[in-house]
Amino acid sequence: MSVRVRFAPSPTGPLHMGGVRTALYNYLFARRHGGQFLLRIEDTDQARFVPGAEDYIREALDWCGLTPDESPWKGGPDGPYRQSERKAMYRQYADQLIAADKAYYAFDTPEELEAMRERLKAAGVAAPAYNAVTREHMKNSLTLSADEVKERLARGDEYVIRLKVPRHQEVRFEDVIRGWVVVHSSNIDDKVLFKSDGMPTYHLANIVDDHLMRITHVIRGEEWLPSAPLHVLLYEAFGWERPAFAHLPLILKPDGNGKLSKRDGDRLGFPVFPLNWQDPTSGEQSSGYRERGYYPEAFVNMLALLGWNPGGDVEVMSMDQLVEYFDLARVHKGGAKFDPEKTKWFNQQYLRHRPDAELGAQLQAKLTASGIDTTVERATAAAVLLKERATFVDDMLEGRYLFTEGSPLIGNADANAELKKRWKPEATPALEAFIERLEALVDWTPAALEATFTEVLQATGTKIGQVMPLYRLFVAGRMQGPGMFDVSALLGRDEVIARFKAGLEHCRAWA
Ligand code: GLU
Repeated sequence: MSVRVRFAPSPTGPLHMGGVRTALYNYLFARRHGGQFLLRIEDTDQARFVPGAEDYIREALDWCGLTPDESPWKGGPDGPYRQSERKAMYRQYADQLIAADKAYYAFDTPEELEAMRERLKAAGVAAPAYNAVTREHMKNSLTLSADEVKERLARGDEYVIRLKVPRHQEVRFEDVIRGWVVVHSSNIDDKVLFKSDGMPTYHLANIVDDHLMRITHVIRGEEWLPSAPLHVLLYEAFGWERPAFAHLPLILKPDGNGKLSKRDGDRLGFPVFPLNWQDPTSGEQSSGYRERGYYPEAFVNMLALLGWNPGGDVEVMSMDQLVEYFDLARVHKGGAKFDPEKTKWFNQQYLRHRPDAELGAQLQAKLTASGIDTTVERATAAAVLLKERATFVDDMLEGRYLFTEGSPLIGNADANAELKKRWKPEATPALEAFIERLEALVDWTPAALEATFTEVLQATGTKIGQVMPLYRLFVAGRMQGPGMFDVSALLGRDEVIARFKAGLEHCRAWA
């Protein structure tokens, strides 16, 4: 039997990164076993529908490289893949359960349901429920006469269809990740399967669709674990073989205290969504990994390791490698702490391995946008130096001094403050000697520059720590960045000498 898995989001808002991880694990599992990855939109709850959410899901999955094999947009043998378009299909399954005495009509009004809850609470029941015990005192097709039921239906009375949960049964199933789960049926209430608005509930639609779409493994978030025993009962009621269940661990806040929420992202300054999102009603904006400059490969790699690892120390893995190593049995039971710093680290790793020409072209475009013209060759040469310290392409803009003309000290308060701390008149002879040697240097390369610098230090008896910071500040205007011999080689003789001279002038004015 070939593996078929599905990701079944409800279009109630932007897809959270936990949802993307669920999609990813489904995708990896399908690819690993040569199966299919389906996407089903679960939009039976009209009240929670949010315009734009479905497009967001599609775009986010595409960005991550998790394009489904079957979906509302692509179609497939088991469509439609949007539950609202399958509406007409569900009723017959609810009827089938009624005919088999596994489900029943319930006519109770909201007031009657509320009265039941009050009664039970007054009697000391902590969690009042419509179940095998209480249904006997309610208005349903199990307590009313067959004639009355017929009459009510003919009259058009409002009703729902509820599952008739057995009174004494141990419900058990083996979760691929959590092992045996055992729940007594007395803890499961008679869930509504079909609503008075003519729509199935999540539970019914989900089970019917998983069955019709021939799903072999249900891989979903831990928040669905409490529903799983009910789903097991539903499969039994239908007499259908059920898929395997695998409930994924929660994604926790960076400090491990509770589930990662949208608010944590706002509070701690990292995105919890793959793409930017603007709420259509409130206009509220949420930022996304894509717009923050993350590579989808880095985002996916980070997510893959949030709750799973292949064993060993390997962390940076391509999608192909993830597919090769992925194993549901190695998914952790415990929650996975989200680490925003690690997420940046992954981006840095991916950035370093991008082709130099690509980084060069991107840097060139960003420079152009900030009013600096340069060639792609020069931008590429600079990117080779700057990428080592960059997490995002934007970070390479800190190397703009490689593209400007004139002393980087001019109008640079930080550099001047730093220079005031570092400047010692004793460094002057070495700096002057270096300038003189640079004017005559034949081979303008990093190696020759370095050799010359070392010779000057020796000849003048100066320590590197006295001169190198000045070299950095004079030529680059900042203390961090690529090696100064590489920087100088790229800047060219005239520019480097001019900056040295300007720097010396500047410092002499203080002496
Ligand atoms: N529609 C549910 C959700 O939004 C699907 C849960 C499941 O995978 O069964 O997460």
